[in-house]
Amino acid sequence: MNSITYSCASGGVGAGTELTVVVTGGAGFLGSHLCEHLVAQGHRVICLDNFHTGRPANVRALAESGRFELIEHDIVVPFESMLPRFDHIYNLACPASPPHYQTDPVATALICSQGTYNCLQAAKRHGARVFHASTSEIYGDPEVHPQTEGYHGNVNTIGPRSCYDEGKRFAETLMTDFGKRHGLVTRMARIFNTYGPRMQPDDGRVVSNFIVQALLGKDITVYGSGEQTRSFCFVSDLIDGFARLMANGDGPLGPMNLGNPVETTVGELARIVTDTVGSRSKVVYKPLPIDDPRRRRPDIAQAKAVLGWSPKVELAAGLRRTIAYFDQQLRHGYLHPANGRPDMVQLSRARPELVGAAP
Ligand code: NAD
Ligand code: UDP
Repeated sequence: MNSITYSCASGGVGAGTELTVVVTGGAGFLGSHLCEHLVAQGHRVICLDNFHTGRPANVRALAESGRFELIEHDIVVPFESMLPRFDHIYNLACPASPPHYQTDPVATALICSQGTYNCLQAAKRHGARVFHASTSEIYGDPEVHPQTEGYHGNVNTIGPRSCYDEGKRFAETLMTDFGKRHGLVTRMARIFNTYGPRMQPDDGRVVSNFIVQALLGKDITVYGSGEQTRSFCFVSDLIDGFARLMANGDGPLGPMNLGNPVETTVGELARIVTDTVGSRSKVVYKPLPIDDPRRRRPDIAQAKAVLGWSPKVELAAGLRRTIAYFDQQLRHGYLHPANGRPDMVQLSRARPELVGAAP
């Protein structure tokens, strides 16, 4: 294990309500926002990440708090014995963008299965509450619309997305059965497409692709006809949902949808992004990836009733904040060849059809 410690945990931890919280995948897009939130709440945070798609820079500023520790570790390798006692664990470690999780599908399946098992074992040893980042992908290409938690999904078991979709479905099963057997409090969020600052410019997901393309004046790559839909949630809304879900009681609770129910076509998203950037980029159409879900919208009745949660940030406002972030990243030369990310270069060479709109 290679440990990068920005700040030693012992100093900032006191008694009382301060919790020690482990966040796997904490250097990624969602994880870094979650760590920031937890540190701001006065908790001590231990972040485990192997930097596959995340980066230390996302959490570097948290070191100043004196309550944040970053450890380089792959969660497929057991870690229960290397941690001090902790109260909560959030399992977010997993590449989330299709080009990234499809690069090594076996690794992805193992992160979801063995990685989740290792989180549960660690939680059992420390008597901790466990949160797992599940996904709307467990509904596959849905035949029920909008998707309620009671819908069991329509997933191909052997397609290019299966390593992630079936991996995340298996993780829900493991969370449920392991939790019951060992009396753990488990919480699972089925996250619908979430965007915001700290997505990687070369992540490959639609919001980051379109924004980077528009800012650079490159073609906007719409896959398929652009009539497929997604429902986009701004990251601050989602993190608020995570906190409420984790804090909700001690009783059993099934997986819960968290997302913004406003549905948008991919073509419409391309138009909003180019208009907001004021870009002259033109739309080009590329083949629709295999098994790409045709529509997706969360039914969030449960989250409203149980957590009193609903998203507040409208798409236009969230996109403006995200565009400002990417604009700054690009100005600082993130995509300059000298700063190139070797994994993206390798990805482009190995599976160019998966990289899609790599800027
Ligand atoms: P991300 O790729 O930015 O973050 C994933 C993080 O996990 C990265 O920091 C990466 O380096 C780390 N990681 C990957 N494999 C690891 C391993 N084996 N061991 C340790 N760390 C590892 O993606 P994100 O959007 O922040 O997603 C976070 C979680 O939320 C993922 O589990 C993802 O499946 C889930 N999710 C996200 C969305 C979304 O819209 N952002 C939607 C549904 C589900
Ligand atoms: N998409 C697109 N152009 C891109 C990237 C993605 O048209 O450059 C489409 C993709 O085919 C899908 C939607 O946008 O229909 C959302 O893709 P993303 O990878 O962001 O998330 P997911 O498919 O996992 O919901």
